Amino acid sequence: MHEMSLMESVIDIVCETARKNGASRVKSVRLDVGVLSHVDPEALLFCYEAVRHGTIADGAELEINRIAGEGWCLDCGKTVPLQERFGACPECGRHRVQMTAGDELKIRDMEVI
Ligand SMILES: [Zn+2]
Repeated sequence: MHEMSLMESVIDIVCETARKNGASRVKSVRLDVGVLSHVDPEALLFCYEAVRHGTIADGAELEINRIAGEGWCLDCGKTVPLQERFGACPECGRHRVQMTAGDELKIRDMEVI
């Protein structure tokens, strides 16, 4: 499951950041997860609970912030909503759309004690 290794890196970064800031515990973590990224939020939560165990982030809440898909249509010359990777432009129906949002998986912020 690739969500497991993703969450392992997230927890690594979170714990390291907390330690660098002299925190003893992590209270909450917020993640930005694009709807077009190939991860399942349910699986992320499940893996998160497994990997945070025994770390200073044990017990920290995880909030997943979904980012909508968006792309730049070269033919229309504007930003359009994107329902799928390499999807067609909803306005002109062509496929010359470059994804600009919806693919992210990053730590938005975190709270430490
Ligand atoms: Zn278009």
